[in-house]
Amino acid sequence: MSKILIIEDEVSIAELEHDYLEINGFTSDIATTGEDGLILAKKNSYDLILLDLMLPSIDGLQLCKELREFLDIPILMVTARKEDIDKIRGFDRGADDYIVKPFNPNELVARVKAHISRYNRLVNRHKDQEIIQIRGLTIDKDSHKILINGEEKIFTAKEFDLLTFFATNPNKVFSKEHLFERIWGFDSMGDITTVTVHIRKIREKIEEEPSHPQYIETIWGVGYRLRK
Ligand code: CA
Repeated sequence: MSKILIIEDEVSIAELEHDYLEINGFTSDIATTGEDGLILAKKNSYDLILLDLMLPSIDGLQLCKELREFLDIPILMVTARKEDIDKIRGFDRGADDYIVKPFNPNELVARVKAHISRYNRLVNRHKDQEIIQIRGLTIDKDSHKILINGEEKIFTAKEFDLLTFFATNPNKVFSKEHLFERIWGFDSMGDITTVTVHIRKIREKIEEEPSHPQYIETIWGVGYRLRK
């Protein structure tokens, strides 16, 4: 199920967006300030963000820029002023789309659907491939083999799962909590420090200089991503 983050200070609009998305099978979280929106975006994994342009203490465009530092999911700006459209369009590495208030909620849902499916098509293009190739790294999912610059390296099952998860979702940042949940599961023993330990071990195997990783990067205060 796709999950949307709504960043909107007008509660009635946020609830309208939330309700229409829910009717159409989406789940959503609401943040009424930009600061809370940023915290939620770092903590959880969303498929799309609806971002109000006029927020009380931070400009929506500025927030968009900050979100773009660690997210590449679609961002739809919601603006009350038609004259802001040029500003949104002209903003470098900004929003993927915009919608003007008052909007038709069905139109909003249609745009959300279109952007999520376009993004998923891009991301999933390589998902079913049995062999993943990212620069010098080759993962053969079928035979459970990992090669670095042609040389086979031995991985434990969890290291293999973790690296394969990153490689099938490149350029996407995942928090330790998210990785722990995905690879180890909620019921497993241990805690999220396991993630840090496994990433260190993976780096020792795949990186030329584990202290300057070229594959799994640390995004401070957010998590990790595999750069493609
Ligand atoms: Ca507003």
